[in-house]
Amino acid sequence: MDYQGILNVIEDKLVGEKLDGAVATYIPELAKVKPDKLGMHLTSVIGEEFHFGDSEERFSIQSISKVMSLALALLKEDDEKIWERVDVEPSGDPFNSLVQLEYEHGIPRNPLINSGALVICDILMTHLKDPQKEYLDFVRRMAGNSTINYNKKVAASEKAGGYSNRAMINLMKGYGNIQNDPEEVLNFYFDTCSLSMSCRELAQTFVVFANQGKLLKDEEQVLSEVHVKRMNAIMQTCGFYDEAGEFSFRVGLPGKSGVGGGIVAVYPNMYSVAVWSPKLNEKGNSTAGMRALELLTEITGSSIF
Ligand code: GLU
Repeated sequence: MDYQGILNVIEDKLVGEKLDGAVATYIPELAKVKPDKLGMHLTSVIGEEFHFGDSEERFSIQSISKVMSLALALLKEDDEKIWERVDVEPSGDPFNSLVQLEYEHGIPRNPLINSGALVICDILMTHLKDPQKEYLDFVRRMAGNSTINYNKKVAASEKAGGYSNRAMINLMKGYGNIQNDPEEVLNFYFDTCSLSMSCRELAQTFVVFANQGKLLKDEEQVLSEVHVKRMNAIMQTCGFYDEAGEFSFRVGLPGKSGVGGGIVAVYPNMYSVAVWSPKLNEKGNSTAGMRALELLTEITGSSIF
């Protein structure tokens, strides 16, 4: 498949379509990003790399970090103990919704919405001596890149606000679903969200989900095949806030988005692909990012469906 030729066509089309949207501003530091950034990078399971635009520039990955948190939690905690505290159903509600959490007695719908990721961070804090360091080491190992880091300014900017997340974690603490100090869990969660990565680095990190849990460079099995199957299923059904159905419908791949404008998607046994464009639609997903991935599966004529 001529992926580079296809990416070039996608770039041309996106520039022509002038897609709309608004940069996230509720985390003040994110509002400083240039809205017209656009980059895409595809890594195939045989290690080929294709890209265009601002694919090497790092941005705030925000909720994409929730996938790596879940992966690490699955390595540290028994599966049943995780799934009795977090469900695996699509939420159909915005990523920071409190309503559903109250109805469901402090059990989050899934690990890719904020409440679920907070529980996963709580699990990690119970198991890790130095959560910030060990989480970063894990992401660097998956990415094969030791320069990836947190962005302290973005984390501080979110810590200074973050009221809905604070409300959420306190509600869950009230229901007995948070074991550690809520402020410490929040700090860890905000740090994970502040990770700064490029499309290239994201695609190289997520290729493990296309490669049945094995790293590309040495075929080390970092995640079991069962875990990869489950995580891809969760990304498919829960990775796009209350627009997971729309993403499945238009793109047809498992993936995860973040309010920094990044989206990563995975085609099992074929490739991982990351796209970045900071302007978001009203559901919080990158407008151009969704369109780019829709074009990718349309032009290649293949998706998991
Ligand atoms: N740190 C953001 C929050 O908790 C992540 C949101 C997102 O990317 O979906 O609000």
